[in-house]
Amino acid sequence: MIRTILAFIAILLIVAVIGFFALGPGMVENGQNQVVRPDTPYAPSEAAIALHEDLFVADLHADTLLWARSAARRSDRGHVDLPRMREGGMALQVFSAVTLSPSGLNYDSNTPDSDDLVLLTFAQRWPPATWNSPYARALHQAVRLSQLASQETDFALIRTRSDLQTLLDRRARGENVMGGVLAIEGLHAMEGEMANLDGLEAAGYRIMGLQHFFDNRLGGSLHGTGQGGLTEFGREVVAEMEARSIIVDVAHSSSATVEDVLDMTSRPILVSHTGFAGNCETARNISDDLMTRIAEAGGLIGVGYWDAAVCDISAAGVAAAIAYGVELVGADHVALGSDFDGAVTTSFDASQLAALTDALLAEGLSEDDIARVMGGNIRDFLLENLPID
Ligand SMILES: [Zn+2]
Repeated sequence: MIRTILAFIAILLIVAVIGFFALGPGMVENGQNQVVRPDTPYAPSEAAIALHEDLFVADLHADTLLWARSAARRSDRGHVDLPRMREGGMALQVFSAVTLSPSGLNYDSNTPDSDDLVLLTFAQRWPPATWNSPYARALHQAVRLSQLASQETDFALIRTRSDLQTLLDRRARGENVMGGVLAIEGLHAMEGEMANLDGLEAAGYRIMGLQHFFDNRLGGSLHGTGQGGLTEFGREVVAEMEARSIIVDVAHSSSATVEDVLDMTSRPILVSHTGFAGNCETARNISDDLMTRIAEAGGLIGVGYWDAAVCDISAAGVAAAIAYGVELVGADHVALGSDFDGAVTTSFDASQLAALTDALLAEGLSEDDIARVMGGNIRDFLLENLPID
């Protein structure tokens, strides 16, 4: 009898372990990255579809690399993979690495004392070094994107201006090739070591967000506890980034940090995924005045598709937020910054971006302005600000 019970418990344990590794990560993603589609499916007009086909469509922020699936194959989880990018007419996606995620994430106050990624990286059987090291997690996600680019002939990793020019030339010849740029969410991934900037740069990171959800050694986060500006170390890192043509992203930085960055930089900066406070006043969005300063310095602002960024996740709601931004800072300074696969709920995925072109037409934007915000600005920004080669 006891042997039967022990055998039963052993089987239960084996089933639980298999379930943890085989099903756990997918279940986590299903809970985090949702698409809540409207009751009446999006049906873009013929004019919108025709315009969309002519656009260079690009996006400044997706967290796809964190999840337990290959972006090479179409998935019914999350928002982005290569087949859905192709269906959505995309030419380029910035893939951002998340490297630490405190429990109970919120937009008001977080500390890095807890970390939900320990279990996720373990369950996904990432290399042991990644289980507790943000730096190792960043390197691993860079490898994942590099492997994707080496396996897929129609997807290229973009590290330099000449890489991007090659992508544009191939597309001009009619090749349906897409590009990916590596970005990082928060330089806590440097683990306080300037030498790790070399490692991240060598791994292919060309856009670096200074903070994520908590204050770090570089300075204050918008969702940390201190709302401080750049530290001395932060200033050193930003100066190094400028010298190396690494693009600064302030998407999660405190207002004080953004001001300090603007005061010390001469190159334009990004706010890769955000909304405009004047359109949607939440703790996620910095002030319109600061957005205006960023644009005046040549910066580019990516508008997200989730509730705390735009307050209305319908395609019309996202288009209204974009139109607000165009009115505030000009069409040359607004772009797409979906936050796809970033633990957000959206009303469409990457395959349905023609619905956004349709909504922008309905919003009254000119075709030229739509071409700029749907990706033309990202193309031009990267052509000017990536390292030359
Ligand atoms: Zn983010």
